[in-house]
Formats: sequence, C-alpha cells, structure tokens
Amino acid sequence: MNLVSDFLRKSALRFPEKLALVDGEVRLTYAELYAAANRVAAGMRALGLQPGERVSYHGNNRWELVVTLFAAIQGGFILVPLNVMLRPAELEHILSEAGIRLILTTAEGEATARQLQEKFGYRLCSYDDPDGLFARWFAQGDPGEIQAHRAADDVLALFFTSGTTGMPKGAPIDHEFVSHLAHSWVISCRYSPAEIFLVTTPMFWTVAPMHCIIPLVLAGGSIVLMNRFDLTRCCELVLQHRVTSFFAVPTMYTLLVDQKADTLRQMKSLRVCSVAGAPITAEIVNKFESLSGATLLNIYGATEAGALAREMLDAPRKAGCAGTLGGTVEVKLVDKEGKPVPPGTPGEILARGFTAIKGYWQQGRVNRDSLPDGWFHTGDIGVLEDGYFLRILDRAKDMIITGGANIYPAEVERVVGLHPAVQMSALVGLPDRVMGELPIAYVVLRHAGAATPAELEAFCREQLSSYKVPRRFIIVESLPLTPTGKIQKGELRKLAARST
Ligand code: AMP
Repeated sequence: MNLVSDFLRKSALRFPEKLALVDGEVRLTYAELYAAANRVAAGMRALGLQPGERVSYHGNNRWELVVTLFAAIQGGFILVPLNVMLRPAELEHILSEAGIRLILTTAEGEATARQLQEKFGYRLCSYDDPDGLFARWFAQGDPGEIQAHRAADDVLALFFTSGTTGMPKGAPIDHEFVSHLAHSWVISCRYSPAEIFLVTTPMFWTVAPMHCIIPLVLAGGSIVLMNRFDLTRCCELVLQHRVTSFFAVPTMYTLLVDQKADTLRQMKSLRVCSVAGAPITAEIVNKFESLSGATLLNIYGATEAGALAREMLDAPRKAGCAGTLGGTVEVKLVDKEGKPVPPGTPGEILARGFTAIKGYWQQGRVNRDSLPDGWFHTGDIGVLEDGYFLRILDRAKDMIITGGANIYPAEVERVVGLHPAVQMSALVGLPDRVMGELPIAYVVLRHAGAATPAELEAFCREQLSSYKVPRRFIIVESLPLTPTGKIQKGELRKLAARST
C-alpha cells in the first residue's frame, strides 16, 4: 500500500495526455510527470536510499521540485522541504534534527547547502547542473513503476514550521494525513479534471505541496507554478492559463483588491479560491468575490493539523469566520486549565485525528510524548458561534493583556482595517509598568497622508471599547512579513519597544 502515490498513478492511467504541470515553457502531461517521478525515485534508490530516509528539495518553486515531491512519495522517502532563503545558521538546526541524506538544490541555494555539507554529510546536487544527479535521472530509461510500501502512519514529509518566533520544530505528516487532507480539498472546492490551479505560495511551506498540488493531482487537474509570489505575474498567469482556482494568504488578497481591481474583473475563468494562514477581513473577502466573481473560501489550518475548519462551496458561511469544524480532525476548545469551554466562550483550539501530527519529530522518530495528552495545541484562541462556525480571535501569545483585560489583536485590526485609508494594520502589546501592556497599532495607508493618527483613533473610538483603542497609531510604509506572507509580530514588538 502507498495511499498517496496512487493519486498520481491513477491520474496518469486515467488522463495520460492531460496537462499535469506548467512551469514557464516546461509542460508535463500526467504520463510524463509519473514517468519522471519513477525515474527520479529509481535514481534515489540507486544511491542506496531506503524508505523512511530523508531527502530535501531546496529552491524557489519550479517543476523539478514537483517531480522530486512525487519521486519521494513513490520511493517511500521522507521529504523535508527546505526554505532556500534560510541562512546557514538557521538551516543547521533543521539539518541536525532531520538527518537528511540527499539535498536537491538550485543555483540560488547551492552555496549555502555546500557550506554545511561536510558537517552533515549529505549528498548534494543542483537541479541547475546539466551533468548532476537529477539531470541524469531525468534523462535515464524507464525503470518501471516504483511504489514503495508505506503504511498509513508512515511519515511522508517533515515540515519545519516557519513560526514567527522560536526554534523550528519538525512536524511529521503521514500518509493518512495527506490522503484525508487531499480528499477534503477535493470535496470542499469540488476540484475536477477541468481545474487549472495556480500555485502562488512557496513549496517549503506545507500549503503548496500538501494543500494544493497533491489534491489537484488526486482530482486530475492541471497545475501552473509561480516561481515566487509577484502580484503582476499572478494576474498575468491567471489570464494566460485561464486559471480556475488558486490559494493565497490574506496579504496577497489585500494587495489584489487594492492594486489590481480592474484585472480581477477580467478573471472570468476563476471559480473558487482559498485563503488561510492569518485572519482575513470580511471586507477583503467581499471585495475579492464581487470583483472576480469567484468564491473565496476561508480555511483555518496549521502545518501540524492540516485544515481544522473550513468553508465549503455552497455550504452556509458566516462573515469573518473560518468555516465549520472538523471532517478529518477532531477539534476542541479549552480554557487555561484544559477544560472544554461551552459554545460562545473563547478557548484555545486543540486538534487530534487523521490530519493532525501524532507527535513532533525528535531524535529520528515521531515522538508521541511531545504532544500533551495526544492533542496538538494550536496556540490560537477561537470561539464557536451559532453552534458551529469557528471564529479565530487570535493567537494565544499575540493576545494583549491591558489592565487585566484581554485584547484580541485580530478584532482591533479588523476595525482599523475598516477605515477607508487603511491598507493593512497590526496590533502589538508594548510592555507598560502600570497596565501590563498597551496596544500599539502599526498601520500601512493606501496612499501617503490619507489619514492621520488622530483620525484613526477617532474612528476606532466609535467602534471599540476604550481599552481596546490603540494608544498609538504608528504609520509605516510596510509591515515585516515572513516568507509565507504572515506579519512578524515579534519584529513589530521589538520596533515598538525601541520607539519608546
Ligand atoms: P502555519 O503552521 O505556518 O501554517 O501557521 C498556522 C497558524 O496560522 C495557525 O495556528 C493560525 O495562527 C494561523 N491561521 C491559519 N489559518 C488561519 C485563518 N483562516 N484565520 C486566522 N488565522 C489563521
């Protein structure tokens, strides 16, 4: 059995001539993608790699990474996607945790990967080397079908969570996780072989391979790759390939509705899009939907727990909520003592089940003891509304406590974002001797000078209890973002501390 490898195998049988993957001038049909994955898997085997050993891709999005993804699945190797932007000091921790045998890199990553090679002893090959391992494997003769046996709980990939703070931890994603997750995407977005899906997010983050590419291959749709996110290129690719669906993080949707409204109106092919990774305001969702005509589904996900809640096509939705719970994972909301809270009361969101990790990767294995009581603690605070809609209030550690009162930044950011001059905002807590913390808002305006801090404050006073109104509004040109497009609150906290 190899649950997930069957997705590509079956699509190659059903639709051999259908376009599976487009990357610039490169186009691979399903038969070609499957054959390439078999050849690369055979090459990895010939190096002596055994099922369960770790291999990595290391580069911006390109077709070779997709082939590597499926080769690893077919050969039963554990894929460890590496962020090509990481500096050697940041990579060292991941390399020592993961024990990687082979890294396939790109011209932009080679120098870093080479610097650490001696210390960690992995094989290294650049996709850009015309005589390198990958080029030779890709050119070799047909080795036949490679399908290593994998049990449902065998690890398929290990993602080191990007996190906005702390040391990255290895989240082992097993076959059962990936399979259930893929089916939940196909069902909720009704992906079909007619789908043309644009991948906008980087392949080192779980979203592109696990939430986009594998579900699309299960459905037999076509995948268009974007090398790195670029607003104009994203629009061009949608129009050029008549894209029907894409996933993006909230910042990207904000930029699209603000800067590309006319182009969105031309995107007649778009059918259903999806968003996750951070809170998105109902205003941006509504604007995107009315400009493009596509439905924008909000998914609440985490590297460690797939999709904990999701909106589905044609199912009831509630503005500002991230859909309804469960399907592939059991979810509960608990108070500080770990006791379940009743609907309507905020609590921390916990998950366990098919699409949740069974433990973090520690000392070369999945350590089940690393999850308290077997539950993954998201660190997010949510509330169940009307019995089943999940509203994400905030991350537990982003919550600001001022004079003993809790402020959920997402709530305040939503209100600040309603001001017509505001493009984006982020609220952080500034330590204060008396109040504990004070809420400070960093704001990016749509146009320079479009609003003053005093105007923003007056606007918030009309809509928020006074303790929630930011004590200061700091207008900035941009907010610090992680490589996956999330706001780095840690950086803003440091900035706020320095600005006093
Ligand atoms: P990552 O593991 O990098 O995908 O980050 C997961 C975290 O992103 C979650 O724990 C949430 O804090 C945040 N997140 C994901 N989806 C949503 C969403 N739809 N609304 C609000 N926050 C989200």
